[in-house]
Amino acid sequence: MNADSDTAERSSSMRDMRELTLRDMRELTLDEVRQIVVDFGEREFRARQIVQWLYARGVESFDAMLDLPATLRAHLKQNFRIGVPAASVVSRATDGTRKLLIRLADGEEIESVIIPAEGRVTLCMSSQVGCAMACEFCATARMGLHRNLTASEMLGQIFAARSELLPGEEFTNFVFMGMGEPLANYPRLIQTLTIMTAEWGMNISPRRITVSTVGLIPAMERLLAEIPVNLAVSLHATTNELRSRLAPINQRYPLEDLIAACRKLPIKRRNRIMFEYVMLAGVNDSIADARGLLKLLAPLRAKINLIFYNPFDGSNLRTSPRAAVEAFQAILKNGNLTATIRESRGLDIAAACGQLYAEQHRAT
Ligand code: SAH
Repeated sequence: MNADSDTAERSSSMRDMRELTLRDMRELTLDEVRQIVVDFGEREFRARQIVQWLYARGVESFDAMLDLPATLRAHLKQNFRIGVPAASVVSRATDGTRKLLIRLADGEEIESVIIPAEGRVTLCMSSQVGCAMACEFCATARMGLHRNLTASEMLGQIFAARSELLPGEEFTNFVFMGMGEPLANYPRLIQTLTIMTAEWGMNISPRRITVSTVGLIPAMERLLAEIPVNLAVSLHATTNELRSRLAPINQRYPLEDLIAACRKLPIKRRNRIMFEYVMLAGVNDSIADARGLLKLLAPLRAKINLIFYNPFDGSNLRTSPRAAVEAFQAILKNGNLTATIRESRGLDIAAACGQLYAEQHRAT
């Protein structure tokens, strides 16, 4: 490398460093932007123009905000940045599932998955880099928690994924079922959901958003009091003994408390709480388990999603055979519990639940 390019490289990386110390504009609410605009001496209506550029049109630079006065644009450029996570790898599965590996500004990586199925296009989003919940059957858990995602990084997954949509495709559903425990990143999750659902933001109906949790009871209650999204609770077991082994957070929030809390949640009349249940051969897939599940969920308006376990390297667990999953489902249905089977999607690109990340970092 010659001296000139060395210097050029150094100054461009210094620029990047400086950029990173600036506040990320793509996580501000309308009120916060209004304050910035007014403090600068501009009129309030400029705030709406700015959030439209940020969230409705998804622009990546202040220069693109064409209807703003040049002075305001320059001010924003000086003092803020727009976080733009880029998909570094996109892999496509034969079933149409697309997995995006997104590299964040500090080099960490997260995954988002585009899942087209039956007239819907769902985006599966991450909420943390890694996870601290330590569930036995989950590949992300093996990473431990690296850090929380910012609201901008959560929203950035939508913008990055949008650029991978095919002509005519549009997201119909958003699920926080990627890496991380969304309710362990509560304030930033709320900020993200606020911007996603606001009329001045992305204007997505909360009915199209599902937050999946391992069962952090106080945060579940707060979430539904603040934003009426759909809730999915990862259950996986009908006894405290087994659940504490599979999902250790059960020691803090045991089953009886979880069910009692779910009972009190403000779920709309025609809605039901979704429970997720990963089917593990010889662990939680017996007829007795199915009966236990019926009993446990009897006091609730619930539906249950049975998930084929996706094995990964270093795990001793095995997937329940299809026949066992179907027999399990039949018992639930006979007991009047709505039970669906989630077919694994994107298996050939390791985009299925719990496989994210592990694949890329197999060697480490
Ligand atoms: N932390 C949240 C959201 C992320 S996990 C939660 O626990 O709900 C999203 C769903 O994928 C959960 O139901 C989780 O139990 C399931 N899952 C995790 N690892 C899996 C694996 N290896 N195979 C199948 N499903 C898995």
